[in-house]
Amino acid sequence: MKNSDRQPILFLSHGSPMTALDGGELATTWTGLAKRLSKPDAILVVSAHWNTQLPVIGGSARPETVHDFGGFPAELYRMQYPAPGNPALAQQIKEVLADAGIAAGIDAGRGLDHGAWVPLRMLFPRADIPVVPLSVQPGRCPRHHYALGAALAPLAAENVLIVASGHITHNLGEYMRPGGERPSQSARAFRDWVHARLMAGDHEGLFDWLHEGPGARAAHPTPEHFLPLFVALGAAGEKRRTEWLGGGWVEQSLAADNYLFEVA
Ligand code: ZN
Repeated sequence: MKNSDRQPILFLSHGSPMTALDGGELATTWTGLAKRLSKPDAILVVSAHWNTQLPVIGGSARPETVHDFGGFPAELYRMQYPAPGNPALAQQIKEVLADAGIAAGIDAGRGLDHGAWVPLRMLFPRADIPVVPLSVQPGRCPRHHYALGAALAPLAAENVLIVASGHITHNLGEYMRPGGERPSQSARAFRDWVHARLMAGDHEGLFDWLHEGPGARAAHPTPEHFLPLFVALGAAGEKRRTEWLGGGWVEQSLAADNYLFEVA
């Protein structure tokens, strides 16, 4: 990876905001990954925490660090990730999407939510690489998100790191509830089903995840944390090499697997 301008595509399970403070297995995964990545010219981050009807690209030159969570220690609200933005790249992305028949907007005021800054802070702690955020469309299907990723694929060859940030399972009710089996049988079954398909290179088998994945609705009561995975798959293309990076389970209840995809 070090000798090429071609960047891999990442899918990161971003954990709870607390990952920024107490790390755990995700921090170990990300710091290990950081050592292997070559420095990109820019980072495009598709976060589960920015939901819109149409794709929207963040066009701020100085994106704010957004603390989009409540009830966490004060220290977490003081954390900043002062990476610059790249308004010209945001415009280029809008045009690339338009060429693929996907209408997108630009939000010049959008900052970086915790789905973006919590992992990026560990991957690129110097915060000196421009970051451009892109939204997820929870009302649209996996194929839309795959097409979005496919349209963005050429950027990876231009030294732009595409990071899709979500979660392999994301049942917050289960996460908050004390006691019970952890991880639940259904979360484990869904995670294993997704993992097997990813490692087999079978993205087609994932498109109908809501009906075919065991325990899918329990794993994702809402789809926004799963859909970024399809952006990553689309960007990596059909001839991808998939590497599992680990990540474990957040509070033993949310599957936090991370994957790296390389265009073969
Ligand atoms: Zn999240």
